[in-house]
Amino acid sequence: MGAFLDFSNVSFAYHTKAGETPALNNVSFQVEEGEFVSVVGPSGCGKSTILSLIAGLLVPEEGSISINGENTGIGYMLQKDHLFEWRSVYKNCILGLEIRKQKTEENLMRVENMLIQYGLMPFRNARPSELSGGLRQRAALIRTLALNPQMLLLDEPFSALDYQTRLAVGSDICEIIRNEHKTALMVTHDLSEAITLGSRILVLSKRPTRIIYDARIQFPEGLSALQKRNTKEFQDYFQTVWEVLNNGKA
Ligand code: ADP
Ligand code: MG
Repeated sequence: MGAFLDFSNVSFAYHTKAGETPALNNVSFQVEEGEFVSVVGPSGCGKSTILSLIAGLLVPEEGSISINGENTGIGYMLQKDHLFEWRSVYKNCILGLEIRKQKTEENLMRVENMLIQYGLMPFRNARPSELSGGLRQRAALIRTLALNPQMLLLDEPFSALDYQTRLAVGSDICEIIRNEHKTALMVTHDLSEAITLGSRILVLSKRPTRIIYDARIQFPEGLSALQKRNTKEFQDYFQTVWEVLNNGKA
């Protein structure tokens, strides 16, 4: 069996009246089941385009993308949490199930269990505005996980949060994703976040983008995201990725 996600020799350009914008130039990478891959690269290089291609919202002009396994749903988490204020927290969490007509007993139980496990039961009937930034993100994640996707795509999911909340919420959300055994691809412009949350990092070049660095990230067992920032490993990873981003080589 091949990789969980096989993104193979993909090229893609946007065609508009103003002309052609080549976004991806022969990009290849594979992701194994259970990996949490951070993706960093200059603004406008094609990161969101890669996620849209994987989600099937765009179609590659060259190359191919395959995702293994039956029933491989894709869950998308964006910069804004898009919780609807006129619905309760619970009603927000089951919105995807309603839209896809998948309000089965099994799926509703999954939501129920996640609400309990991730501390949202007391806010079940609350409105989103009554939640802290951290709990809003948890609710948005539960809504995404309700459909039991095999892979999660996260596009700068924490950038709307202030710096301090962001540190805590980022590690909290990633903890839940690991706990639920999901494979994930997370785009972020925050290098520290990419290094402390991912199990692997992909660095992209300017447009038309290619992969200029791809490495596994490992820290001593049991460190929190904050503790990781104080290690020698963190400094080394940061230095390397910084240089790759600025000079195009390690
Ligand atoms: P990133 O997420 O890395 O910031 P994107 O993947 O959103 O970058 O975009 C890559 C490039 O493609 C950018 O130069 C952007 O302006 C261009 N682009 C994105 N979406 C469209 C579109 N719908 N039509 C034309 N050009 C686009
Ligand atoms: Mg983007």
